[in-house]
Amino acid sequence: MLPMSYNQRMNDLINAYIPNFSIAPCQVCRSPVPVDKFGQGECPHCGWHQEAHGIQYPADVIYPNMVSFDKAKALWSQGLPLAPSFDDFIGGLKYYKEVQFEYRGILYAVCWQRDGVNFSTDDGDDLQNYATIADFKAHAHIDDKLLIDIWDNVQNADYM
Ligand SMILES: [Zn+2]
Repeated sequence: MLPMSYNQRMNDLINAYIPNFSIAPCQVCRSPVPVDKFGQGECPHCGWHQEAHGIQYPADVIYPNMVSFDKAKALWSQGLPLAPSFDDFIGGLKYYKEVQFEYRGILYAVCWQRDGVNFSTDDGDDLQNYATIADFKAHAHIDDKLLIDIWDNVQNADYM
């Protein structure tokens, strides 16, 4: 009898507990990732969400990832986390319409709706409203600091 491969043993183990999951190499870092029957799953190594469709548009920020496929591979090759720049965050807002981030322990929400962009705290305090995403990008601020200027200190930028 041939010895089972590592991936085969992992697949058997996972299927014993979580049916319909299997192991696939991460699309970005090639580490083994448990994926569901749709090929979806978050890489525990680099954080990339495996998905079938977004990588067909490798330059675009597409849910559930906050950076493009091309950028994720570039960041990974430099040993950097897959953290979105302010432009990536704006890309996520355009794609998904509801995004959030943390700054100094407070969770903020950004929602793009028919009447414009609403910037608020997660517990519902309205901060600012903008007619367009370009206005939000240029003028959104926390206290007296522009969001674009403090972006390096923002954490956990993600979809809502
Ligand atoms: Zn990975």
